[in-house]
Amino acid sequence: MLIVGAGPVGMTLALALADSPLRVLLIDRRPHGAWADDPRALALAHGSRQLLERLNAWNTPAATAIREIHVSQRGGFGRTLITAEEYGMPALGYVMRYRDLAAALAARITAEQLMPRCSIDKIETGNEDATLTLMHEGAPRRITAKLIVHAEGTPGSDPDVKVRDYDQHAIVAEVRPTPAHNRRAWERFTPDGPLALLPLGADYSVVFTVPPDKAAALLKLNDGDFLAALSEQFGKRLDFIATGPRAGFPLALRVRQQITQQRQVWIGNCAQTLHPVSGQGFNLGLRDAWELAETLAESLHRQPDAGHPAVLAAYARSRSIDRRGSMAFTDGIVRLFSNDFPPLRFARGLGLLALDLYPPLRHFVARRMIWGARAWP
Ligand SMILES: Cc1cc2nc3c(=O)[nH]c(=O)nc-3n(C[C@H](O)[C@H](O)[C@H](O)COP(=O)(O)OP(=O)(O)OC[C@H]3O[C@@H](n4cnc5c(N)ncnc54)[C@H](O)[C@@H]3O)c2cc1C
Repeated sequence: MLIVGAGPVGMTLALALADSPLRVLLIDRRPHGAWADDPRALALAHGSRQLLERLNAWNTPAATAIREIHVSQRGGFGRTLITAEEYGMPALGYVMRYRDLAAALAARITAEQLMPRCSIDKIETGNEDATLTLMHEGAPRRITAKLIVHAEGTPGSDPDVKVRDYDQHAIVAEVRPTPAHNRRAWERFTPDGPLALLPLGADYSVVFTVPPDKAAALLKLNDGDFLAALSEQFGKRLDFIATGPRAGFPLALRVRQQITQQRQVWIGNCAQTLHPVSGQGFNLGLRDAWELAETLAESLHRQPDAGHPAVLAAYARSRSIDRRGSMAFTDGIVRLFSNDFPPLRFARGLGLLALDLYPPLRHFVARRMIWGARAWP
């Protein structure tokens, strides 16, 4: 089996298949360890921690536990506080740098399993197998496999991928707050877009969502002016005293309509790229990888062909509710909260108040943070 893309989702799949009879090869276009430059930090659900622990790829020293999440909107009433204590959990989730997550997964992948610096020329599929033609270290190679798994991250233009551009960019940076964060995360909705502060070591990992022109301006500011702009957006409850480097990411919802085709399957960001609000993207991709490994493990003793149409159909069915639920949850939040329309601001305030006063509603949101898909009835 061939996995195209050795990002966190592709590597998770390779590790989840380690005990299966399948021979798995991961290929990536970048050099090994290229993730070291990635500036993102990811909020990981408690359920994701459990899956990563089962793969011996949980990076304990790199994880900061989230004790509570404060959710509010700028310029409107209503707020809610979700605490781990209320759910008898050690944490609502964890924050970890992308690079630390990738390094922990990569440490469990052998050199024979990974072929970096590949550039794909073409993929041909047939009833019996699929063939991938690529260039590796200046030499052409042809690799034949029963199944090709696409885990190469956010797709470019592709007629099978539906795109909704949010007209927002995320600026990410690590900033030092005062007073100390005490493991509280903040999700603050502003007319520009959501602003998330995630505890990471002694700092906050900030995801500051703004329209593209404002993002370009924020990236050019000196550190002092950037911290002042962040304070202006966040409000007065915290001060920010230092910042690390900044990076920007354009945000869009990209949804692949068919996640399986003849001898091919798409997982992770390659299957769906979500807005980072409420930190669902990697958590969902992890469940894609886990479920594909489980589907293959269950079917292999009956059906030794990993790319058989019945196996792919079973996988696609198994992902339908989780994918649709996570996309609707994330997209709904972005569209409801990213505007300054007064009646909506009022309705949002009522919604936040209801979350605070009506525990079943709060439990629904909390369970989604803690478990992901299992929050759905
Ligand atoms: C600002 C921001 C904040 C986020 N915060 C969160 C969060 O808090 N929680 C969360 O769960 N998610 C979050 N996400 C989403 C998360 O980053 C992604 O869901 C996750 O990285 C997807 O992993 P992946 O392995 O599918 O793709 P990627 O991480 O993109 O990895 C893809 C891999 O494929 C390789 N590749 C690409 N093209 C090719 C090719 N043609 N051939 C071979 N290899 C190729 C790449 O080199 C890379 O190694 C955030 C995203 C952003 C932008």
